Amino acid sequence: MGNYSIETNCVQGGYKPKNGEPRILPIYQSTTYKYDSSEHLGDLFDLKVPGHMYSRISNPTLECVENKIAQLEGGVGATLTTSGQAANLLAILNITSCGQNFVSLSSIYGGTINLFAVTLKRMGIEVRFATPEMTDEEVDALFDENTRLMFGETIANPALKVLDIERYAKLAHRHGVPLLVDNTFATPILCRPIEFGADIVIHSTTKYMDGHAAVVGGVIVDSGKFDWTKGKFPEMTEPDESYHGISYTESFKNAAYITKVRVQLIRDFGVAPSAINAFLLNLGLETLHVRMERHCENALKVAKFLESSDKITWVNYPMLESSAERKLAEKYMPGGCCGVISFGIKGGRSAAVKFMDSLKLAAIVVHVADARTSVLHPASTTHRQLTDEQLVDAGISADLIRMSVGIENADDIISDIKQALNEVE
Ligand SMILES: *Cc1c(COP(=O)(O)O)cnc(C)c1O
Repeated sequence: MGNYSIETNCVQGGYKPKNGEPRILPIYQSTTYKYDSSEHLGDLFDLKVPGHMYSRISNPTLECVENKIAQLEGGVGATLTTSGQAANLLAILNITSCGQNFVSLSSIYGGTINLFAVTLKRMGIEVRFATPEMTDEEVDALFDENTRLMFGETIANPALKVLDIERYAKLAHRHGVPLLVDNTFATPILCRPIEFGADIVIHSTTKYMDGHAAVVGGVIVDSGKFDWTKGKFPEMTEPDESYHGISYTESFKNAAYITKVRVQLIRDFGVAPSAINAFLLNLGLETLHVRMERHCENALKVAKFLESSDKITWVNYPMLESSAERKLAEKYMPGGCCGVISFGIKGGRSAAVKFMDSLKLAAIVVHVADARTSVLHPASTTHRQLTDEQLVDAGISADLIRMSVGIENADDIISDIKQALNEVE
């Protein structure tokens, strides 16, 4: 589907039925696959021939969805995981071991901060946080010879900082390491980080890609552009004992990284999603382009309304004229900045709670980025485990309300906000 536009690939990419085959992607509900000879199966185990052998490693339904997502992001391959957390974990473990470190932007998702600062630390992997305000020299100083990668989010959840992808790609490449970008909020419809120099792209597919709050999932996409053979990544170039000594870069060339994620880490950690979950994700992907357009349109209307209300102290939406992120947003996401907005209410924490409890259409949920409008108070929920200092670094104030604007009628969403604001003293 190489010559079609991204909208067409959302609908029809990844699966191409042959004569007489099912029109829509079948659910291959099978743990295992049959072969005519033990020799063929042996070759599969040695990765000498392509094919499926066991659904913890690969499955035909998953493969079609992986190919679609790789196509949407402009990568050479993708691997689905059971969650966004698993995707970020494996994306890092694939090239980072005990005693090594990596640099990450500090304004990222709370769950990712936990993973990086607590769990990976216990495994002997150190994260070094860079704030968006740091100069290039200050970020440079965080790297040393044991630094393996740099990490950031295209649109940070929930601070809504826009990542200057080109800038951080340059910084990472200057130190001989790849830039990993979590593109969950933007989706490839709004931004394709690989086009700006990102090497690996990660998603929590739980959010817009699924889009209906039905299935938790994640995906890792490999751009195929990073050169692993310069001596810094022996795990990519040296023999893997668990596969009769193959070298990933020799055997799989520019798909070395993503092949290793699958055949080594998905195999060993066992975080392969089920076929039916991949099927459901694919249904979401089929309408991703249409939904993102409406999310962006509605969010801008809601953000402008909030900005005009005297009960609101501040509004953060990168597409607003008033936003400090506007320039970066226009460069990286000219089509819009997803459906997520953050804002503060006069009266602080207690007013925020009263406002949220008074909403009728918008629901209080932990989730974001699905078809239904929802709200959340991160400081008391998703980010409550962070220290005050970490909250500030993540760009979150105590009064911050995060609203994920859905694809309902925009006037209905705004009316609901109006009536809830009237309930606040
Ligand atoms: C939700 C989210 C994650 C974690 O994904 P799960 O699917 O919940 O495990 C990672 N990164 C970002 C930006 C997210 O919004």
